Amino acid sequence: MYKAFLIKYGEIAIKGKNRGSFERALCDRIEERVAGIGEFKVIREQGRIIVECPDEYDFDEVISELRKVFGIIGICPVVVCESIEWDDITKTCLDYVRDEYPGQKFTFRVDAKRADKRYPIESPEMCMRMGESILNEFPETKVDLHDPEVHLMIEVRNRTYIYSKTLPAAGGMPIGTAGKAMLLLSGGIDSPVAGYMIAKRGVELEATYFHAPPYTSDRAKQKVVDLAKIVSTYTGPIKLNIVNFTDIQLYIYEKCPHEQLTIIMRRYMMKIAEVLAKKSGCIGLVTGESIGQVASQTMQSLECTNAVCTLPVYRPLIAFDKQDIVDISTKIGTFETSIQPYEDCCTIFVAKHPVTHPILSSIEKSETKLSEKIDELVQTALDTVEVVECR
Ligand code: ATP
Ligand code: MG
Repeated sequence: MYKAFLIKYGEIAIKGKNRGSFERALCDRIEERVAGIGEFKVIREQGRIIVECPDEYDFDEVISELRKVFGIIGICPVVVCESIEWDDITKTCLDYVRDEYPGQKFTFRVDAKRADKRYPIESPEMCMRMGESILNEFPETKVDLHDPEVHLMIEVRNRTYIYSKTLPAAGGMPIGTAGKAMLLLSGGIDSPVAGYMIAKRGVELEATYFHAPPYTSDRAKQKVVDLAKIVSTYTGPIKLNIVNFTDIQLYIYEKCPHEQLTIIMRRYMMKIAEVLAKKSGCIGLVTGESIGQVASQTMQSLECTNAVCTLPVYRPLIAFDKQDIVDISTKIGTFETSIQPYEDCCTIFVAKHPVTHPILSSIEKSETKLSEKIDELVQTALDTVEVVECR
């Protein structure tokens, strides 16, 4: 029944002279998402985006794909009347109401627009005429201009669009409108959610994973690749940098107080991620940290980790409770993968009693015990990064 979808977008409509580039980005993202499921055409005209459908397609599949596109706040399934003759429009509208609202007992209002002001019937007149036709055809309906149950829209262009329902969508901003950031992606629950949330603001993502073979297995690495792939269904392809972190960890373990190990390791992760970030044109780092969740995420620990970074570090989950994060992770489809029980490089060398209130000067003092060898190890890690394109 539906031959098109009208795309509603919120915030981007108010971006003044950036509006054009925002709309273009949104169209590109929509095209990428629907390309795999049929011959859809994305049309941008007069401040609207319309997705035109091929003769045959799967409605649920299209909606599910469009719901992954950030920047869309609502999707209106549209019935198209190829003609702009008033009698044809009326017939199509009545058929539409009959199919869409079984029982035809509702309050309604009609709004109409004509793209071409030369169209012989003015908009208020179109509304009145259609209102009357509906009342005549379906005697149990009633007009309610203020709070209608059904709000029927008629848009006359070179053909006529008819719609009344808006399906909710993801919201946010189209990817590619905000810049690029480096996500520190582990195999846990939090970082994929953090990536999703920051991407929802229009940020393009690249990712880095710290791998510690043989302490962490290939299966643990595959899990991170799988997570990046799930996140990429929302963000578009993600380049995943896999850093071999083993020798750095072992060296820190050998030289530094064990209760400070996690913090010092985290500082090296951030440093390395930042080098990779800058190399790829990323202008921020993203982590899944949340205040107080574990010893390495107290405010004091975050202060110590943050101190090595020069790029801004975005932590979208900083004030979230675990359950809220789990809820989002379930919604976006990463949860089942995240809870697969594979080892994590942070937990392998973890001390029995890690510091929870580290003092930056004391951490920095401990790090002086690491000779130039640490720089060589960092360089080697950077030189041997394995890159996986996740899509
Ligand atoms: P997550 O659920 O994302 O693993 P977490 O609760 O396990 O988080 P930590 O292990 O303290 O918390 O890690 C905090 C953040 O540091 C993670 O959210 C992630 O952004 C980053 N991180 C931790 N371990 C790794 C890793 N092996 N590779 C890449 N990033 C990591
Ligand atoms: Mg983790």
